[in-house]
Amino acid sequence: MKLLFRPLTALLCAAPLLVLSAADPLSPAEQELLQTIRARTLQGHISFLAADSLEGRDTPSRGLDVAADYIASQFRRFGLQPGSGDSYFQNAAFVRAKQPMDQFSFLLTAGDGQFKAAAEHTAVSAERAFALVDATPVMIQASGENAALPPASDVAGKAVVLLPGELRGRALFERRAAILALKPAALIVSGQAFMMREQLREAGSGTPRPPVITISDPAFASLAAKIDAKSKLSLSIQAPVEEPVPLKNVAAILPGSDPVLAKTYIILSAHYDHTGVNPRAEGDKINNGANDDASGVATVLAIAEALSAAPQRPKRSILFITYFGEEKGLLGSRYYAAHPLVALAQTAGNLNFEHMGRTDDNEGSRAGKLTSTGFDYTTLGQDLSDAAKLTGIEPWKHERNSDAFFGSSDNQSLANAGVPAITVSVSYIFPDYHRAGDHWDKIDYANMERVVRTCALTAFRVTNAAQEPRWVEANPRTANYVKTWRELHGAQ
Ligand SMILES: [Zn+2]
Repeated sequence: MKLLFRPLTALLCAAPLLVLSAADPLSPAEQELLQTIRARTLQGHISFLAADSLEGRDTPSRGLDVAADYIASQFRRFGLQPGSGDSYFQNAAFVRAKQPMDQFSFLLTAGDGQFKAAAEHTAVSAERAFALVDATPVMIQASGENAALPPASDVAGKAVVLLPGELRGRALFERRAAILALKPAALIVSGQAFMMREQLREAGSGTPRPPVITISDPAFASLAAKIDAKSKLSLSIQAPVEEPVPLKNVAAILPGSDPVLAKTYIILSAHYDHTGVNPRAEGDKINNGANDDASGVATVLAIAEALSAAPQRPKRSILFITYFGEEKGLLGSRYYAAHPLVALAQTAGNLNFEHMGRTDDNEGSRAGKLTSTGFDYTTLGQDLSDAAKLTGIEPWKHERNSDAFFGSSDNQSLANAGVPAITVSVSYIFPDYHRAGDHWDKIDYANMERVVRTCALTAFRVTNAAQEPRWVEANPRTANYVKTWRELHGAQ
C-alpha cells in the first residue's frame, strides 16, 4: 500500500507526454493526507459497527443507539465541532404508528351493486381518524385508454378510487404519488393489500397526508370499474395508535479555512442503520450490514479523521453526517433535508457513500474501480473521475444502475432539496446483500484503503475549488433538480 503513488510518478517521468488527467497532479500535502487513511482503521470501524452484538442496527434498536454513540465518540476524538448545537446528535422525534382495524368500515355503491370491504382484505395507511358518508367517488384507471390523470380540480378533496390495470411496481407507485400530490381526501387502490405491521414517521409533521386504503378483493375491482356520478362511498378509519420513538442523525462540522468559502458546506454522508434481525433467515439471523453500510460510515469517519488532522485545512466547511432509517425509506436524510443543520442554500454539494468495501459484485470483480449513482448528473462525477485517475483507480459509470439507483440512497433527499448529490460505491449488488452473511471479514480492506483515499482526495478538492459543484443541465434527467437548485439560489 505504501507504494500506491510511486508507480504513477514513475509512469509520468518515463512518459512525460502522456496526459493522464486534466486535473492538477497530487500535491505533497495531498499525498501526505491520503497516506493517513489506513486499511487497519477501516477494519476497526467496520468490525465494530457490524458486530453481532449490535444486532444489525435496525431503526429503532439498542444496536443503532450504540452505533450512534460510537460514531459520536470518533467525531469527538477527531476534535470536530458538534453538528447540532453542542451535540453530535440531531435528535428526531418519530412515532411508531399501528393501525387498529376493529372499527373499520367501507361501503361502495355503484350501478346496482354494493361492496363491503372486510378488514382481512384491506390495508390502511392513515395519520388520523377519517370518515366519509355517501361521498361521490372519482375513479381513475392507471392503464389503458382512459389512463390520463384528470385535472387537479376533479381530484382535490375527493375520494379517489385507483384501478391499476396493467400498472405494477414502481410505475404504480409513481402514479399513486402523482394522485396524492393532487390532494384527494382519500385514495382507495385496488391491489395487493399488504398491511405494514407498523409505520415510522416524524411526530406531528404538519398537515396529515390523505389516508390510502388498499383492497385486494377482486369483487371490489369489478364493482369499482362501474363507478359513475351516482355512485356513493362511505368509509370509517380509526386513528392510528402512536408510540414515541426517539431517533438521531450523528453530525459534526469541520469549519473551513477560507473566510468566504467557509460559509458554504460540503456534506459527506452515509447511513448507519441496517435491517436488523430477520427471524426467517438462516444461521444467526443477524443482518450485520458490514458493506451496507458500515463501510460508508467508515469512509466518512476515515475522511473526517484525515481532514481534521491535515496541516492544510479545506477552504469550505464540511458537514459529516450519518443517518438513521435509510433502510426504512431514507428517513434520516429526509428528516435532515426538512430540518437542515446548515442552510440548504449554503450547502454546495453532497457525496454520500454506500457499499465501499466489497469487490465481489454479483456481476464480477470491482477491484480497483469506483462508480457512483447519477454519474453524469452533477460535476461531482467528473471530480471523482479526476481524483480516481490520480490515485490509480478506474472510474466508471454502470450503464443501468448508475441512473437506476440514484433514488435508492440518501443522496436523493438532498437532491430533492436542490443540492447536487450523488452516492459513491464500489459495488451495487453483492452476494450477501441484505442478508445475514454481510460480515466485516468479507471486505477487501486493501482495495477499500485505495478507494477511500480517492474519495478523500475528491472531497478535499471539491472543498477547495473556486467553483461549487453543479447539476449538469445538459442531462435531461436533472431537469427537476436544476429547477429546485435555481429556486434555492434565487437564480433564473
Ligand atoms: Zn445502504
